[in-house]
Amino acid sequence: MRLAAVTFDVEHDCPPYLNTYHGVEKGLPRILDLLAEKRVRAVFYFTADVAKRYPSLVRRVVDEGHELGSHGYMHERLDKLPPSDAIRAIVKSAQALSRYVETLHSFRAPNLQLPSYLLPAVHRAGFDVDSSLAAYKPPFQSRPCIHNALLRVPVSVTSSVLRLPWHLQRPIHARLPSPAVYFSHPWEFVDMRGRLLRPDCVFNTGERALELLARLVEHLKRGGWRIATMEELRGILSPQSRCMDKYSI
Ligand SMILES: [Zn+2]
Repeated sequence: MRLAAVTFDVEHDCPPYLNTYHGVEKGLPRILDLLAEKRVRAVFYFTADVAKRYPSLVRRVVDEGHELGSHGYMHERLDKLPPSDAIRAIVKSAQALSRYVETLHSFRAPNLQLPSYLLPAVHRAGFDVDSSLAAYKPPFQSRPCIHNALLRVPVSVTSSVLRLPWHLQRPIHARLPSPAVYFSHPWEFVDMRGRLLRPDCVFNTGERALELLARLVEHLKRGGWRIATMEELRGILSPQSRCMDKYSI
């Protein structure tokens, strides 16, 4: 059976350009309503910053059966920080989020930038699945792989692909290997048009993005894909290959 994961990075609006939380306040409840209607469990990687501001939304995510993961402390670029500061952000984020769940399994670095020298710290902080690699970024790792005890499950396509008109994104989904890992952000589900931002932070945001997400979920279900959380993938997948290192290519 082909596997897919539907994941969301829950952060402030379009970092680093804005410091508002419209996506969390308005977009996240819309996503949760849609997933409840479609009976799909997803993964929500929260920054500790958002979790501290909106604890009731973290509780709603967990209560509705979704997986809670970490997306750093303040959405800091871990590759740009001195290693000791990056490690502190990872540990503090794990501490802030672990009060909501029995075990916190999953990590995704902000901007999908996780230097390999931080992988031991991610594991020591208690995480056993990392989803910070992307099939479309160096080292172009597209399949799950192992780094010591850490399972790494790369994202398959960038988030704005999910806002392309359906006839353009459909052939992309057809070509993805299993597990297909999708990610998006709550701010994509509020209307960002009319703002002076990077075009990919604005294009087809709001209601249109929600319709397209519903369409993707329907497509996966009808196509026989099993939509799994990262915690579930960790129990299913047993890749033998070691992860490539960005710095070794
Ligand atoms: Zn992010």
